[in-house]
Amino acid sequence: MANVVIWVKPYEAANHTPGTEGHKGLCGWHGTTLGRGPCPNEPYASVKLRYADYEPVQSACIEALKEISQRYGFAIPQEYSERVVENS
Ligand SMILES: [Zn+2]
Repeated sequence: MANVVIWVKPYEAANHTPGTEGHKGLCGWHGTTLGRGPCPNEPYASVKLRYADYEPVQSACIEALKEISQRYGFAIPQEYSERVVENS
């Protein structure tokens, strides 16, 4: 798959473009990518992705971070995976 993860940071609204879910404090990954409506979980990480022609920064809740990790085949940084376990 050509799409890749460029970086993962702890969630901050300032990482996201005004007007996006991430900037509003919502989980943008579930709100847009899966098309299932607003995600009830709070954003946990900011994830910059590279698609064919653009590089959006997505906000991701814990579940979204797991899904992104699986879909894009990148390892969740240790500090994240520990916290994911704690919250599971
Ligand atoms: Zn979510």
